Order: sequence, then structure tokens, then C-alpha cells
Amino acid sequence: MPRSSHCVLIVALFALFACDSAPEFEVPDATGMRWFKGNTHTHTTMSDGDSPPEVVARWYKDHGYRFLVLSDHNVFLDPLTLSTLQDSAFLLIPGEEVSAKFREKPVHVNGLNVPGVIAPQSDSSLVGTIQKNVDAIRSVNAVPHINHPNFRWAFNHRELLQIRNDKLLEIFNGHPQVHNLGGGGWPGMEQVWDHLLSAGKRVYGIAVDDAHHFQGEFATERSNPGRGWVVVKAQNLAPREIVENLEAGFFYASTGVVLHEIQIESQKITIHIQPQGDFKYRTEFIGAHGRILLATEDNPAVFELHNRESYVRAKVSDSSGRAAWVQPVFTR
Ligand SMILES: [Zn+2]
Ligand SMILES: [Zn+2]
Repeated sequence: MPRSSHCVLIVALFALFACDSAPEFEVPDATGMRWFKGNTHTHTTMSDGDSPPEVVARWYKDHGYRFLVLSDHNVFLDPLTLSTLQDSAFLLIPGEEVSAKFREKPVHVNGLNVPGVIAPQSDSSLVGTIQKNVDAIRSVNAVPHINHPNFRWAFNHRELLQIRNDKLLEIFNGHPQVHNLGGGGWPGMEQVWDHLLSAGKRVYGIAVDDAHHFQGEFATERSNPGRGWVVVKAQNLAPREIVENLEAGFFYASTGVVLHEIQIESQKITIHIQPQGDFKYRTEFIGAHGRILLATEDNPAVFELHNRESYVRAKVSDSSGRAAWVQPVFTR
């Protein structure tokens, strides 16, 4: 009997059951993994930052970060030159902000775990410019992340949907002029992210500092450190493992909210929030097109999968507006 006839028969006999199996999440194997906090985007006097690399790296080490990518514009800084700062508690991953342009639009793509300097690439189109810089980073076996699309309103999901081989997108950048929230008809970065995910593009959202200013006053209009970071799950604090796990979505992004644990089961997501002071928390589980599937103030926050969603991601916000973004979990 053909398979379709089987289905008809089963539906006829058991009208309440569908032929499709129940939706399930893809469950990652996180056995033996620990959390490592890090920042993948920051600047020094090697380009337009105000402090030398050792001062910048020291700031992150002293503030509890476990890894850092020094990503100056179009230059390569060998972490071996800062070997005295590195130990089992603090890792420097070599990086570069490959900084190109299409007409007046900046096209900045970070290269993580780069082996040496990568020259910025140009092209006759905006999409081509982004793609060529992604490709240049991939060609040396490094990992690209797309930086601040709304900086000078350069590009959004329309262009990013056409880019291949990129998996990481800045959804929060701590620089004061990058317009994370969009406006005036331009989508904010979370909207861009949902557009991409809803169209079937698997991309993970990172938060970064893009810090330039480590001297003088720390103020909202300055580009100071400590504003956005990622917390990556890995077995070892090693460059290749950290960047591979970022690309696998084994992390959350944060501007201040700390998560104790994220459990993914075949039909359940459980988020354990690490409470701080007397802050209150609200968690939104978000599906295709940014639709809020569930909002809860429970801790742990629990989402149970009943309907077929193409993806489910979560955002935990605290009572001061800080957030943690749990990466999308996909169904099969
Ligand atoms: Zn930039
Ligand atoms: Zn930058």
C-alpha cells in the first residue's frame, strides 16, 4: 500500500491524530560544558581606540571576562605579544574588524580567530561587498560576524538574506551611534534577526561592546566597555572551540542579565535566571516573525512546545531594561 494510503487510513481510524509526528526541538549535546563570558569586538590604539592593547585586555581580565577578541580596523594584533596577560582564566582570540565600504555605507565584518591580517574587499554592489568580506574571512578558516548593520543605516535584512556562510549577527552593539533599535522606518536589530530566522536563515545574535574609550569619563555618548557580551558554553577555553560553539549557537548574549542554565529538551526550553539584587524578570519566548508565544515572570522560565514553530528564541529582560537573549532553537 502506498505511504499516502497509509496516512488516509490512519487519519480515518484515529481522527484526532495527524500523520506528522509531534514537533521536537533539535537538542544540542552540552555534556561537560561550562560557561565562558567574553567580548568579540573592541578597539585599541592599534586603530581608533584610546588605550593600548595591554590596557584594554587588562580591563576585560579585571572585570571577569574569560576571553576577548581585540578587533582593530584592518590590522592584526598577535595575542602572543600579550602572553603575560593570558593564563588558564583568560584567553585572547586573534581578531580583526575587516572594515570596508560600499559608497558611503560602512561594511564592517569581524574575523574571529584569524591567522593574520585580512585586507578589506570591495565590490560593485552592497551585497557583493558584504559577501566578499565574509568570504575573505572564511577563506582563512576564521569565523565572520556581521557588525552593526544600522551604523550609518548601511544595510538590513534585505541584504543579509542574500549573504551566504555567515552565522553571527550583532543584535546589540554598545557603540552609541549604531541604532540597535532602528527607527524612522528602519528595523531594529531584533526585527532584522526575526526576518532572517523567519525566512529560514540560521543566524545567531551576539551582543558586543565595540568599545573605544577606556580613559576618562564613562558616559552614554562615549564608547565604553562592559555594555554587551556573550556567554559561551564549551568544554575548554580554547580559541577554536569558543568560535565553533558560537557558530553552533551554544551561547547567550547579554547586556546585564545573567543566566544560570539553559536546558533544551525535545519539547521544552527551561531558562534558569541568576537573580541579582531585587531585580524582577520577564521572559518572552519568541517565534517566527517576532510573535510572542509566551511571556512569563517565572524563574525558571519554561516553554513547552505544543505547536509546530520553525524556531523559538527567548529574551529575558530585567526591571532596569537590561536583557539576555537566548539563541533560537529549531524544530524538526
Ligand atoms: Zn565597525
Ligand atoms: Zn568596531
